[in-house]
Amino acid sequence: MSSTSASVFSRVGVLLRKEVLGLRAYQVSDSAGYVKLDAMENPYQLPHPLREEIAAVVASAAINRYPDPNPTLLKQEISATLALPQGMEVLLGNGSDELIQLLAMALNKPGAVMLSVEPSFVMYKIIATFTGMRYVGVPLTANFALDLPSMLAAIKRNRPALVFLAFPNNPTGNLFSVDAITEIIEASPGLVVVDEAYYAFANDSFIPKLPHHPNLLVMRTFSKLGMAGLRLGFLAGSVDWLEQLEKLRLPYNVGVLTQLVASKLLAHHEVLLQQAEQIKQGRTELYRNLSELSTVEVYPSAANFLLFRVANAVAIFNGLKERGVLIKNLSGGHPMLEDCLRVTVGTQSENERFVLALKESLGEEE
Ligand code: PMP
Repeated sequence: MSSTSASVFSRVGVLLRKEVLGLRAYQVSDSAGYVKLDAMENPYQLPHPLREEIAAVVASAAINRYPDPNPTLLKQEISATLALPQGMEVLLGNGSDELIQLLAMALNKPGAVMLSVEPSFVMYKIIATFTGMRYVGVPLTANFALDLPSMLAAIKRNRPALVFLAFPNNPTGNLFSVDAITEIIEASPGLVVVDEAYYAFANDSFIPKLPHHPNLLVMRTFSKLGMAGLRLGFLAGSVDWLEQLEKLRLPYNVGVLTQLVASKLLAHHEVLLQQAEQIKQGRTELYRNLSELSTVEVYPSAANFLLFRVANAVAIFNGLKERGVLIKNLSGGHPMLEDCLRVTVGTQSENERFVLALKESLGEEE
């Protein structure tokens, strides 16, 4: 190390908060050239006429101007398309990750706790850590269900200001019991956010329940529905919460192209729902294929991905990569995910390619 870089290094170490120095950044693998089944994206392209409509909208967009700082029309389109209950408002985020951060910034009074379950979406803990909230993760049961008595005890003990529950959960894919979540909402002294990132692939939602629980917000993203590249998520709930949270939203956080294209796609929502339907069918078939493999344990999923366990996840993950298929290796993260892998449901041919590569990697090819 040169003396200049040594002095920069020591300054970095001295000046940065220890929480930041101790963090491991969110990991995204280089996917170029692979069948990409690692990030819960919708694998389908939009129909040609719709792509042309989008091209026209983009061509005439005023990208020299700042975007609408408060896109009321887009918010109304979201409320109407997703049938939000009367009186519920929407707050837009640059993806839902941004909204998790915004919630943490709003609620991190000294000593405030963020509570979630483990294993779940890793950004809850990462964001709690860098915003200075104390994070409490309550383990799920062995089959990844909510452990209600432990949750209620942890809520009583820690009095969390903020609870996140992903419904369906990532990376396990299952839907927690609605009754258990309802008890958690009722027992919580703080705000409970039900994160419905995978709502398009599930048959249940807390959106209709919003008016019944003053401490409930529902968070959604359009990423998994086919707009991951646009970065658009939202919080839905009562104006009492949202008008306060709105103060922390950075000006112009949703760009002009995102606003215009999302609005166009919402007007063609049925196209996206149809693609989600295809993904659900692909999930059923993929689940069946994986269940037939003697050395694979696959878990039920209400999302657009499947979690499965093998004897040696690292070897199988590498075997898949060598065969051109990229999925997510979860082994080494959380103890309950030892030897677990997560595959996103792709197109039929991508799924077939994955299953073949998996069989070869496992040595189970017929
Ligand atoms: N919540 C959950 C449960 C997720 O799995 C993800 C994405 N992996 C997100 C939120 C964030 O999604 P985005 O920032 O793309 O809206």
